[in-house]
Amino acid sequence: MKLKNKKFFLLDKDGTLSLGNKILDGAKDFIKSLRKNNIKFAVATNNSSKTAKGHLKSLNSMGLDFTLENIIVSLDVAINYIKAQGIKRIFWLANSEVSNYLSDFFIFDKDKPELILVTFDTELNYSKLVDLVNLLHKDIPYYVTHSDIVCPTEKYDIPDVGSFIKMIEMTTSRKPDISFGKPSKYYIEYIKTRFNVEEKDIVIIGDRLYTDIKLAEGNDITSILVLSGETTMEMYNESNIKADIIVESIKKIKLNEGYQ
Ligand SMILES: [Mg+2]
Repeated sequence: MKLKNKKFFLLDKDGTLSLGNKILDGAKDFIKSLRKNNIKFAVATNNSSKTAKGHLKSLNSMGLDFTLENIIVSLDVAINYIKAQGIKRIFWLANSEVSNYLSDFFIFDKDKPELILVTFDTELNYSKLVDLVNLLHKDIPYYVTHSDIVCPTEKYDIPDVGSFIKMIEMTTSRKPDISFGKPSKYYIEYIKTRFNVEEKDIVIIGDRLYTDIKLAEGNDITSILVLSGETTMEMYNESNIKADIIVESIKKIKLNEGYQ
C-alpha cells in the first residue's frame, strides 16, 4: 500500500505536528508533499479550548499556511450534532473564546437548559463547577467535546476534559452521554460528510493510542502512530490498540514508500 494513493490525511496537532508552540521537525515538508500530490488534509484536534480560528492562528504562527478548511475541532463536531437536534438552550463550561463562539449558535442557559456541554474550559472555576453539578442532578443530557485525560505542553501534562469527567463522576455518579472527539463515531461521520471522503481513503496520523489510533479501529481508516508525543514503543507493546504503521516522527513518513 502506498500512502500517496490515499485521498485524505488527518493530522493530530499536539505531539504530532507540534509541541506547545513549536512545530516538529519534518512537519512542514510533510505538508508540502501532501500538497504536491494533491492530497487533502486537515488538522484533527480534540482540543476544544480554542475555536477553529484560534487553532488556525496558532498553527499559522508556527509558519504553516493553513486555512479554516484544514482544521477540524471536536467542538465543531459537537455543535454540528447539537444544531441538527434543533436544540437552542445550553449550559456550557467553556473559556471566553469558546463561549463567544458557542453564543453564535446557542443561548447560554443556567436555569433550564436542554443540555449540558463541557468543553476544555481553561478558565474553569469553582462556581461554574457548582452550577454544572446542580444541573447534572436533573435529568438533562450531558455531552462533552472529547475525553482526553491530559493535554501535553512543553513542560508537563495539564488536566483536560477527561480529568473534569472523572471529578464530575465522583461527585454526581454521572458519565457523559456523548463524547464527540476522536475516536468517536460522531467524529468519523462528521469528517466523511464535511469532506466527502470514504473511510478507506482516510489516513490518521497521531501520537495518542486511545484517541488517534483507536479512531481507525474496526473500520477501513489507516492509522500511523508517531512516537514524537506521548506514546513510547514500550507503551505501544503493552497496549491492545494497534497501529497500521509506526514511525519515529512525521519526518519519517514517506508517501511513496510501499507499506504493508
Ligand atoms: Mg496528540
